[in-house]
Amino acid sequence: MIRLEHIEKSYTVGKLTVPALRRVDLDVKQGEIFGVIGHSGAGKSTLIRCINLLERPTEGRVFVDGVELSALPDKRLQEERRKIGMIFQHFNLLSSATVAKNVAFPLELAGLPKADIRDRVRSLLALVGLEEHADKYPSQLSGGQKQRVGIARALANEPKVLLCDEATSALDPQTTNSILALLLDINKKLGLTIVLITHEMHVIRSICDRVAVIDGGTIVEEGPVTEVFLKPQHPTTKDFVEQVADRFELKEALAHEKAAGSRSIVRITYLGETTYEPVLFEAARETGTPISILQGTISRMKDTPYGQLVVEFGGSDSQVSDTITLLRTRGFDVEVL
Ligand code: ADP
Repeated sequence: MIRLEHIEKSYTVGKLTVPALRRVDLDVKQGEIFGVIGHSGAGKSTLIRCINLLERPTEGRVFVDGVELSALPDKRLQEERRKIGMIFQHFNLLSSATVAKNVAFPLELAGLPKADIRDRVRSLLALVGLEEHADKYPSQLSGGQKQRVGIARALANEPKVLLCDEATSALDPQTTNSILALLLDINKKLGLTIVLITHEMHVIRSICDRVAVIDGGTIVEEGPVTEVFLKPQHPTTKDFVEQVADRFELKEALAHEKAAGSRSIVRITYLGETTYEPVLFEAARETGTPISILQGTISRMKDTPYGQLVVEFGGSDSQVSDTITLLRTRGFDVEVL
């Protein structure tokens, strides 16, 4: 649905050239939720704005829904942009217009008849749960409600792609979750392709199918969230994963156990339905290996349950290696720490 080919972008500030993106290639499939995560200044905003050409890449090509946007004259580009909705961190609503007017605005620009606009605004506000607020002004709404207006407005022209520029960064955790749930719902109901940028791993873990990690204007790691999250390779990715895993506690526990002479500390990772099965305890019973749990998480990545346990095995070397083998045969990933 979206393809970025060899994108380079630099800004000119006075006599200086500031590089923002270097050789970025990206493929986003129809219907997926694709996340881009990076620290401040990494190039996330520039990247997402290159998709609808709010920023023109210095080099490279941009395709959306089979059309090369980067080759279009302005008028055609404006038409194609209707297929791409966008929401923003600070909502960008018109403060002097009501909720209904804000949502109607892109439809008026597109020249729809008044009656159609009225119907469409009503159904959009129902979709985002704001029917009761149609006649309010943005200043009378909470942050979460403002972002719902932003989403309704972005969906007005029935886009195929929704770009989310740090859409939950100005919201508290609970409101963030309700907006993420809404994005997931829209993605499922409308089959909309969503690209979001964020600096929060929680956002990626909650709703994204795939993720790209950007650092210094380059994509340093990319893949399904389940893989990138459970087996981060690049130091920047590891940093982000630490945001949601309590690794500090783990470091303390590891140091303590190692000081006490332990050699058999492992991290066990499992995905999907096995998450709820007592495989670890069965394996330990079979081999007679005593286990103690140092740290444990059971959570979800979008629709996939996963578990990650750090345990210490007691017993003889052969008991420990038998247990590890047994767990691996049952599909668990075992990493000796
Ligand atoms: P992020 O969204 O990850 O914080 P940005 O895409 O905003 O990153 O910025 C990437 C780099 O480009 C940074 O070094 C930033 O200072 C620079 N940059 C972004 N926008 C501009 C601009 N309009 N003019 C000059 N430099 C810019």
